[in-house]
Amino acid sequence: LGMIIDFNRQLKEIFPNLNNQSIGKNAVDEFSQYPAMMEVIQNAPVDQNNITVLKSENAEFYRIKKTNLSDQNHHLIGEIITLYHYTEEKKLLDKLQILATHDNLTGVFNRRHFFWLVEQEMARQERYGGNFSLMIFDLDSFKRINDVYGHLAGDIVLKKVASTCQNELRKTDAIGRFGGEEFVILMPETVLEMGQQLAERLRSIIENMIFEGLPDEVRVTASFGLVSHQCLKNVSLEKLLRDADQALYQAKNSGRNRVSIFEPADLNPCT
Ligand code: GH3
Ligand code: MG
Ligand code: MG
Repeated sequence: LGMIIDFNRQLKEIFPNLNNQSIGKNAVDEFSQYPAMMEVIQNAPVDQNNITVLKSENAEFYRIKKTNLSDQNHHLIGEIITLYHYTEEKKLLDKLQILATHDNLTGVFNRRHFFWLVEQEMARQERYGGNFSLMIFDLDSFKRINDVYGHLAGDIVLKKVASTCQNELRKTDAIGRFGGEEFVILMPETVLEMGQQLAERLRSIIENMIFEGLPDEVRVTASFGLVSHQCLKNVSLEKLLRDADQALYQAKNSGRNRVSIFEPADLNPCT
């Protein structure tokens, strides 16, 4: 078992190294440069849900499937490996993946995917320690922008605010759209002071932002609520968001266009 018995011509287009001499050779030797093929060759046939995908040198995608070949007495006499052209489905799936995880107006993560990321980060921190900060910000008096300049103008503002903030973040940070004109930013490995600096920077950038295609006088500000955690024992995602939201509420109440920090009642929550 494991010897190549035959292959069809189309396979040579996917694997240029195959030739007539390949027949009789060991499959693991002939396909050693293709990890996806190796995986299928070396493992037992798997169920349909667990698909292996190969990307060929000409950037086409193939789904690989292995089936057992048995004789009349159900003795295994060989295996058949089939490659299905998969490029179109792959492109569609990638598109769906983006649609399912991103907000389609602003292009930042959607609420559901963002929550998932925060949960990952909380689990990571609970295990390995460290700090992380999270901020929520909400555009101030945004209803007025829509009322005065129209909903499309509001959309332009939302898009620019989201993309500008996204560009200001580190690769490891993440921004999501929490609701209409409310965004959340997750900052792993970030202490309170650093989170506060970023919030202040974003606040000032938003305050000074101008919007192409809109009248010059269109300006917007945002209020920020920030929460930071050194120790996540007994802290739930809900509590974290509630705390950030409480700080945001405070920022709104004390005049808007400012950053407010959540102050935990218990000053030493780690003990
Ligand atoms: P505050 O400073 O208290 O936050 O005031 P606000 O006017 O921003 O708050 P409010 O919640 O009353 O209004 C939010 C507005 O955001 C109302 C809604 O029409 C607008 N909005 C929500 N989603 C979108 C959107 O996708 N596009 C546009 N253009 N506007 C949106
Ligand atoms: Mg608002
Ligand atoms: Mg709001």
